[in-house]
Amino acid sequence: MPELPEVETVKRSLEPLVKNRTIEDVLIYYPKMVKDVDNEVFKNSVIGKPIKRIERLGKHLMFKVGDLTMIIHLRMEGKFLIKQKNTPKDTHEHLRFILSDGRALSYYDVRKFGTVHLREEAELFTTKPLMHVAEEPISETFDILKLKKKLKSNRPIKAAILDQTVISGIGNIYADEILFCARIHPETTAKTLSPYRIEKLAHCAKDILNRAVESGGTTIRTYKNALGIDGMFQLHLNVHMREGEACKNCGRTIKKEKIAGRGTYFCPTCQKKG
Ligand SMILES: [Zn+2]
Repeated sequence: MPELPEVETVKRSLEPLVKNRTIEDVLIYYPKMVKDVDNEVFKNSVIGKPIKRIERLGKHLMFKVGDLTMIIHLRMEGKFLIKQKNTPKDTHEHLRFILSDGRALSYYDVRKFGTVHLREEAELFTTKPLMHVAEEPISETFDILKLKKKLKSNRPIKAAILDQTVISGIGNIYADEILFCARIHPETTAKTLSPYRIEKLAHCAKDILNRAVESGGTTIRTYKNALGIDGMFQLHLNVHMREGEACKNCGRTIKKEKIAGRGTYFCPTCQKKG
């Protein structure tokens, strides 16, 4: 699943290819992908409008289309391709935006979990899907006090940092890396963490996500970014996908356990329980 660095990479690679192009038509091949509004209303709302820029919050892409915002979440395997506008529909192609330069922006999704919402500016952060999305740790204005409050829970810390209403942009890969960096066992009850350790966690989250963005994200298993560009951060992973290998810090063996419902990699020596 694409996390903040992979979605940011999609944004950066896609934006120059679609910016200032006008949407001339929309072909909706998978009607259920469009949420809350009727397909015809969605089409009529964006046709004739320019894509002014792309922004991002957590794992959500926000296309600024005229005075509206089209919010797309790639979920498990959603991706974009730029193609000529008249090419036949591909398998797994769900949406096609015909652009004024003769090309098309196409959305593909093998798993069909991706979503698109259309919102007016005034309701952008007061309605789904963005209303409960927390700040991201790489934000200049990230509020550590808010994070400390949100971590006063009985959940394992791994589950807490995967929750997009607690801190946004982190998925399974970066959660493992951040907890290793902060030397926190993934099963640690969130509310037992001292303010110091939460600050360390936030610092690690910021550092790792920023470095991953600079590397173009992580490419493992099936996920490839929009335009087929591979990220390079997998070369810098310390624990994730390294079960049975030696810890780069202490030399002991990296373990994998199911924690918070997810395959979780950690070093039992560097990340002590309690
Ligand atoms: Zn270790």
